[in-house]
Amino acid sequence: MRATMNVHLTFDIEVWCNGWNDLDRAFPPSFERYVYGRSKHGEYALPQTLAILNRHGLPGVFFVEPLFAARFGLGPLRTIVQLIRGAGQQVQLHLHPEWTDEAVEPLIENCRVKRQHLSYYTLDEQTALIGHGRRMLEAAGSGPVTAFRAGSFAANRDTYGALHRNGILLDSSLNRCFGISGADLRGEHTLDQRFEVAGVTTVPVTVFRDGLGRDRPAHVGACSAAEMRQALSSARKAGRRDFVIVSHNFEMLRSGTSLPDWIVVRRFEQLCAFLAAHRDQFEVGGFALTDDGRRPTPGAAASPRAGMLATARRHVEQLRRRIPA
Ligand SMILES: [Zn+2]
Repeated sequence: MRATMNVHLTFDIEVWCNGWNDLDRAFPPSFERYVYGRSKHGEYALPQTLAILNRHGLPGVFFVEPLFAARFGLGPLRTIVQLIRGAGQQVQLHLHPEWTDEAVEPLIENCRVKRQHLSYYTLDEQTALIGHGRRMLEAAGSGPVTAFRAGSFAANRDTYGALHRNGILLDSSLNRCFGISGADLRGEHTLDQRFEVAGVTTVPVTVFRDGLGRDRPAHVGACSAAEMRQALSSARKAGRRDFVIVSHNFEMLRSGTSLPDWIVVRRFEQLCAFLAAHRDQFEVGGFALTDDGRRPTPGAAASPRAGMLATARRHVEQLRRRIPA
């Protein structure tokens, strides 16, 4: 058995305005909620996420969505990037092209109709949008962008051509639990472990079998702490090279408010504590292309698993989350 497994703690950082009809009025309070999430309990959006990671001495990868800045300017984007870089964490590129038609200056020619997913755009359009996103992020102080995740995991084969044209050779866009994700790659790939498309290495989001035998993506808000621990341990035992966990800037907030969702806060705290306590087993790190010499081992194709009790625990927690605070 391999001694350690790479664990990538990834965070998709994005701002939404609760619809598209009244953007300019909705943006300032939305930005406050999504970026800070202030309540009497603290700032449970980005600041607490960063504080918890740093308290446990863990590096994360923050995929930041920059296209909203084509509407609202670089200032708010710079605020996000500075919060993350100021905490010593890595910034990479996330892209939600549903912002394309909201830009003040057109980013591509065909932008009159809103198209949600990156895979709905041509290779040339994807190349242009990724290039715009990258330039805005770097202008906001991100440092060199070297890795990418498509919004809603909606990458297709052309996304990899577009990334290659932009010199971005590392990706984590694929998530087997979302039908839109890598739809035209599934004939050749199971989207389970890292592989190469068009010269770009992609490291898919980890999917495990829950206690009921169902596929579950390793999202912080969607798994009990026990499920995550068991999936991590079983993936390592199976010889998996990578385990990619997804969270968001708003993951620890109750839906539609700036109040903390204590169940998710606890899950994240427990995950970080577990990883910090088992550094001999899990190597938590940023995304880099350096070859660590690791190769897939026999048996590594098996899905990581969580047990019945760990999944039952999640069901109880989900019920409790529906009770208003
Ligand atoms: Zn996103």
